[in-house]
Amino acid sequence: MRISSIKTTTHEEVVRVEAAECGLLGFIAIHSTRLGPAAGGLRMRPYPDEAAALEDVLRLSRGMTYKNAAAGLPLGGGKAVIIGDPAQLKSPALLAAFAQAIEELGGRYWTAEDMGMTPADMAQVATATRFVAGLPDGPFASGDPSPVTARGIFNGIRTTARHRFGAPDLAGRTVAVQGLGHVGENLCALLHGDGARLVVADIDSARTRAMAQRFGAAPAAPDAILAAEADILAPCAIGAILNADSIPALRVGAVAGGANNQLATPEDGARLHARGILYAPDFVINAGGIINAATEILRITGREAWVADKLATLDATLDRILARAARLSVSPNEVAEQIVDEQLAQQAA
Ligand code: NAD
Repeated sequence: MRISSIKTTTHEEVVRVEAAECGLLGFIAIHSTRLGPAAGGLRMRPYPDEAAALEDVLRLSRGMTYKNAAAGLPLGGGKAVIIGDPAQLKSPALLAAFAQAIEELGGRYWTAEDMGMTPADMAQVATATRFVAGLPDGPFASGDPSPVTARGIFNGIRTTARHRFGAPDLAGRTVAVQGLGHVGENLCALLHGDGARLVVADIDSARTRAMAQRFGAAPAAPDAILAAEADILAPCAIGAILNADSIPALRVGAVAGGANNQLATPEDGARLHARGILYAPDFVINAGGIINAATEILRITGREAWVADKLATLDATLDRILARAARLSVSPNEVAEQIVDEQLAQQAA
């Protein structure tokens, strides 16, 4: 296994990890440790090339700095990516080699589950490093983060509804959910339980049918969900779906969902604002998963009460962001980034 350092002016540390014998090629990016050790998931995807993987890890690790700070966690921002199709290339040897690189960073970066990874993979990673969360069992194991992520998004949808429509209640409101995976399914269950009407879509049509049946939802085609008529759109699949093409076609009053990096560019926040569509910043509303993982990193006892407290604080933060954005008549995303920048600057002072 070979670790080499990559020069950067935007991040504290970036390393390239290669182990030809098991086909491993990946990166670990530490954006900031100003608030604590950098924490963020490990993603495995068939990136088209190294440049695309590097770009993703740099962007995602910066996002983790903002997410962890917004969630009030004593953690910095980091992320790791491995290039390759998890179904084909993932092996115990590959995970152990990557974990060894994480161990060599001495705790400056903590990893966890992200796309292409499972709690069982995290257990494999744990054979070679102490700096891993999201384990399926053990004294502080936090397991699958998705139910807590969904709970945070659900709270945030109610808060967004209060700001946009005057009341948090979802009974009789329609929510369009894009992506019915771990987060989307848990979120649909909470929304359905609160009396919301659902429109659902997934590129896996069998999943769309199953969820539509389970929640009495209207199924939509994947290419139609972003233009579905609803009160709220909850993106829970991929990033960059809010862009110059999709925003003019939206037929909702608010966007509040779990997908990371929903805005294709910062200007898209302003575009939504100009259309009168209230946007709940993704890195705030979807922080439940890292709050869940933080119980393991920080070795929290009494984890349920701690998580509930952090989720309540997160919701209060979103409330503050939406109120300030309304007062200043700017995009909530702009306000959310400003609030974190202030927090980081205070820490540095
Ligand atoms: P997942 O892989 O379990 O589910 C994603 C689902 O989206 C899949 O069912 C997939 O078929 C579907 N999908 C993919 N592209 C689609 C498209 N174009 N249209 C409709 N459906 C599509 O992933 P997840 O864990 O549910 O995460 C969903 C999103 O939330 C991701 O952006 C992830 O980064 C983000 N997120 C997840 C967590 C967590 O705790 N799991 C935490 C924070 C953020």
